[in-house]
Amino acid sequence: MGQASRTTKLLLDLSNRSQGGANSEKRAALEETAKLLDAARVFYVAFFLAQAEKVTERVPYFSQPHQAMRERLLSANELLTWTEFHTVETAEHPHPLPEWNFSQAFPNFPFVYRRSVIKDAIGRVRSYLSNLANWQQADKKGGKPGLPGTSNHPTLYQGAFGLQLDGLDLRKTFVRLKVYDGKAWIWINYPVKYSRYFEQRRTEPGWEQQSPKLILRKTSAELHISQTKEIKAKKVIESKRDPDLVTVAVDLNVKNLAVITVRLRETIIETVFVTDHGLDQARFRHLKRIAKKQWQSGKPVKGEHSNQQLWRHVRRQNRDAAHKVARSLAKVCAKYPGCVLVFERLRKIAPKGGNKTHRLNRKQANHLRGQINQISREKAYAQGVVTVEVNPWHTSQRCSRCGAQGERFSLRAGRREKTGGGKLFRCLICGYEANADHNASVNLHHSFYREYCWHRKPKSTKGSGHSP
Ligand SMILES: [Zn+2]
Repeated sequence: MGQASRTTKLLLDLSNRSQGGANSEKRAALEETAKLLDAARVFYVAFFLAQAEKVTERVPYFSQPHQAMRERLLSANELLTWTEFHTVETAEHPHPLPEWNFSQAFPNFPFVYRRSVIKDAIGRVRSYLSNLANWQQADKKGGKPGLPGTSNHPTLYQGAFGLQLDGLDLRKTFVRLKVYDGKAWIWINYPVKYSRYFEQRRTEPGWEQQSPKLILRKTSAELHISQTKEIKAKKVIESKRDPDLVTVAVDLNVKNLAVITVRLRETIIETVFVTDHGLDQARFRHLKRIAKKQWQSGKPVKGEHSNQQLWRHVRRQNRDAAHKVARSLAKVCAKYPGCVLVFERLRKIAPKGGNKTHRLNRKQANHLRGQINQISREKAYAQGVVTVEVNPWHTSQRCSRCGAQGERFSLRAGRREKTGGGKLFRCLICGYEANADHNASVNLHHSFYREYCWHRKPKSTKGSGHSP
């Protein structure tokens, strides 16, 4: 029993007023709100740092599963009640601590925002204090943990927002937010960029909606609505006993972004190649341009990012490619309910050789593989498919048919040339020849079932010398 989660984004329409967007006052109100919430967070982070012994106080309780008295931290809700008692003026407790009077410092602050800020501050200060304790226990090795940050995107709990999404009529769809306009807290309606895709995702059965977050950026504002779903999935160790288990293995590479092979009863029943459609080359050209521009403009200015638009473009392309690969993988998994997804444990393809741009591009490709792995895992889990990571040791050097050591080669002008990074693979014992990435993908199944040379799990992949 587990939980899958995902984020569905709803963009606020901040385009020109004449095109149906929010006016500049509404935009200013969003900024004011974020500023005031940050100030409130500064207040509470300082408060909790001053009350560190309360934040780390342990209380005894009776544990049912252990049938014994144990100790635990105060829960966030208990701490919240205690905090409000000491910082907020109410009829029941009219005299909070004089130096920590939140009601005086922030008059008329809506309580939903206050609670959101307090809970956020509790999390931050607790993580800081535990990092600090670890650092002191480790005899002050490494850097001292920094003080907790105070800016964050606010979580909107019930009572700080309202969604008015009546059908697909754009004139009726807006988000009602409680915001600070510089003088008082008021409700404002914001137009949204609403679409049927969003509606489909928001109302999909099985997904439960959580409190949204308000993300404010320089030129955009978004509501990030997180959704969760209960997942029932068998443990891999149980699935492995099933003789009719389907395994889906994925080999991640640079040009062939993913080679997906599906195996049932020792037979490969489906293969899908997902290529990068020239992404690697395009990214190389962009990085070359960045390098040239940097060279032309001389020494970079400290604290300033250069080539922001190009970098954003590169990142977006990477992210888009990762989502597309994950989608095609999820499609394959959907065909075989109850299958197990097999990934190789990610290793870095060392960025060696070539010039600086080549190395940078290799680094980006590594990053992309990490993204594909992470997004696919989430998408698959939402369908009830569990992912396992197997040792990638020797997967691209062994023959997937007999398990013997083979070699990589390329065809150049009709002649076979043995090269380290060749596209093709050949077995010297049984004569099997195949695409090297496909061969590696099939070997992942062997590694999962511990067949051939993988029957004994090698302790470390470092010993294999070069990248497999
Ligand atoms: Zn062979």
